[in-house]
Amino acid sequence: MYILPKKESLRMIAALAEDYDLYGPVLQDVSGEPLFDRAMDPADVRLDAAITYNPPKGVLFPQSERILSYRYDRESRKASIRRDDLVRPKALVGLRSCDLNGLLCLDRFFLGQEYVDDVYLDHRKKMFIVANTCVRPFPQCFCVCTDSGPSAREGFDVNLTEAGDDYLFEAGSDKGEALAKRLGLKEAGPDASARKGRIVDASIARFDAEATENKAWISRVVNRITTGFIGNEVWEYVGDQCFECGACAFVCPTCSCFNIEDVASGEGGADRMRSWDSCSFEGYTRMAGDHNPRKPVEDRRNKRFFCKLSYTQSKKYLRPGCVGCGRCARVCPGDIGLPNVVTYIRRETTKAGTR
Ligand code: SF4
Ligand code: SF4
Repeated sequence: MYILPKKESLRMIAALAEDYDLYGPVLQDVSGEPLFDRAMDPADVRLDAAITYNPPKGVLFPQSERILSYRYDRESRKASIRRDDLVRPKALVGLRSCDLNGLLCLDRFFLGQEYVDDVYLDHRKKMFIVANTCVRPFPQCFCVCTDSGPSAREGFDVNLTEAGDDYLFEAGSDKGEALAKRLGLKEAGPDASARKGRIVDASIARFDAEATENKAWISRVVNRITTGFIGNEVWEYVGDQCFECGACAFVCPTCSCFNIEDVASGEGGADRMRSWDSCSFEGYTRMAGDHNPRKPVEDRRNKRFFCKLSYTQSKKYLRPGCVGCGRCARVCPGDIGLPNVVTYIRRETTKAGTR
């Protein structure tokens, strides 16, 4: 571990900007709220910002993206396919550990199954990740309940932990070590790990009691969802609260539903576009002939919670599909963000005497 004085952090970000396009928490001009966004100036990356409204997933899996173009030549009867060169090296700076775990879930979805998604891979390779231990959790945060925070354990090149006037700088890769050498950082000394442990413990103690009291219950809810123990009336209740706006999926760092559309670009050509989708939308599972296996909203709602909390899904991600960022609780107009649904299931199963 190394010591990065806080006043030197801009030098670190500027060094990354020499080799990478920079992304991080950037305060918006009008609202002053932090968004995870492209930073054109290293000074725009705010390591001290609150959790960003959006997760960083849009950097690797953009909300709408051309994944290829094709053209059919009628005369020669030949089709040609073209892929854009997407490989711009990117540095994601200031990722909270919930969001880094979300990114690892996306890796397993796009890269860790039968097919490797080349477009996602293009974004993912040549990426530098600077994680930031969360020392000031927010009221909706519950990463401590989903084994994803407040400090990252894997997947970073550098992990920073705020410690007074300094950051403890952990290199998680050769690239991270090289950056420490390039910046001429001093070794942190033998007590650095213990010091970091105390900072992380203090952060855990700051989590809102209401958010963390679901800790034991999350694993029980995983068990109940996986075994099909939750009655349909629970999903009907949850479905009744849902406005089908899709906001929960769009702010979720692990939601990966998408739609593919070919859009004519003229002269026999078309662009194949990939856009975010949401399992809460009725059209998501609608098929030709208007058949829809998930027509009632509760059928669609329970699928989202299966995806986040069932054991079958967790096996795919090697962790729960929810990383406890709390964003869905923040944006849901129906008040059925994931923590509330866990609380509701907990109340219902306790009421039914099944605890
Ligand atoms: S389900 Fe909600 S709390 Fe969990 S990771 Fe997604 S947005 Fe965050
Ligand atoms: S944010 Fe809430 S209301 Fe909107 S789709 Fe998600 S669960 Fe339904």
